[in-house]
Amino acid sequence: MVSVTSIFAAVAALAFSSAAAGRSFIAPIRGKQPSSLASNPIHYNIGAPVLTGPVNVYLIYYGSWSSSQKSIVETFIKGIGTSKWWNIERKYYFQRSSGSTKTFIGNQVSLAGTATDNYSLGTSLSGNDLPNIIQSKVDSGALPEDTNAVYFVLTAGDVSESIRPDLGSASFCSDYCGYHVSTTLSSGNRVFYAMAGNPTACLSGCAPPSNQNVSPNGDVGVDAALSVIAHELAEAVSDPQSDGTRAWEDNSGAENADKCAYTYGTTSRASNGASFNLGWGGRNYLIQQNWDPVKQACALTA
Ligand SMILES: [Zn+2]
Repeated sequence: MVSVTSIFAAVAALAFSSAAAGRSFIAPIRGKQPSSLASNPIHYNIGAPVLTGPVNVYLIYYGSWSSSQKSIVETFIKGIGTSKWWNIERKYYFQRSSGSTKTFIGNQVSLAGTATDNYSLGTSLSGNDLPNIIQSKVDSGALPEDTNAVYFVLTAGDVSESIRPDLGSASFCSDYCGYHVSTTLSSGNRVFYAMAGNPTACLSGCAPPSNQNVSPNGDVGVDAALSVIAHELAEAVSDPQSDGTRAWEDNSGAENADKCAYTYGTTSRASNGASFNLGWGGRNYLIQQNWDPVKQACALTA
C-alpha cells in the first residue's frame, strides 16, 4: 500500500506545471530534448535536499532480464561512484544556508540490493504501479526501506509504461527513456526512485545513433539503458525532490544530466564496431556527458 498524500500530489502537480515544457524529471526521447540548454547555467536553491554521503542503489528487474543482462547493469552500477564520470557529480553540494558549510556529493555509490518481479502486474504498467512494486519489495523483505537511496525499476523490453498520472501524460519509448521522482511509502518515509527500461522497442529514440546495431557489451538495449540509468542517477542525487523542492536546476527547470542528454564527448571504436567513451569493471560503455557546475558546460569526466 502506498499513500501519496494529497498535499504531496498538489506540490508535485505544481512543480510539474511550472516546468511543464521541460518535464524536468524525465529523460526525453533523443531529438525531443529542449534546445538552448547549453547557454543556461545551473544553480542551487539553497537549503534544498541533495543526496550527500553514501548513496545506495537498489535494482528491481521487472520482467525478463537474463543473467548476462543483469551482469552488465550491476558491473556498471558498482563502478560508477568511483569513475571519472562521477567526479563531475561530486562538484554538486548541499548547503543549509548561504554562508554555511557546503557538503559535496561523495563517491560512495553502492549496489545495495537487487530484486526481481516476474510480471506481477503484467506487461503494461501505469506509473502508479511503480511505487507499489517498490512497496511490495519492502514489505516482503526483499529490499530495505532506505531514504538515502535510489530505487530503479528496470522494465524488460516487452513492458510498456506510462508515467504517474499526477505527474503528467507521457509514455516510455514514446515520450521518454526514463525518469526519476519520489514517493511516500506506507511508513510515511519519502523515497526516491527512477524508471528505466530496456528500450528494444524504441532504439531510434533511446539508444545512441552509433550503437543501434552493435554495442559495447553486445546488448544494444541494455547498453542504451545504461546511459539513461546514469542520467537518472546523477539527477536523483543532485536533485532528489525533482517533483517537490528542487535543488540543482537551470532557470528552465532542467537538471544536470538533462542538459547533456545524447552528447557523448570523445568516443572510441571497439573491435566489434561499437562506440564507447568510458570503461570500468572490465567493460566499456557509451554514456552521455553530465553538466559540470563549475565549468557550466557538459563534460565526460572531471
Ligand atoms: Zn533528466
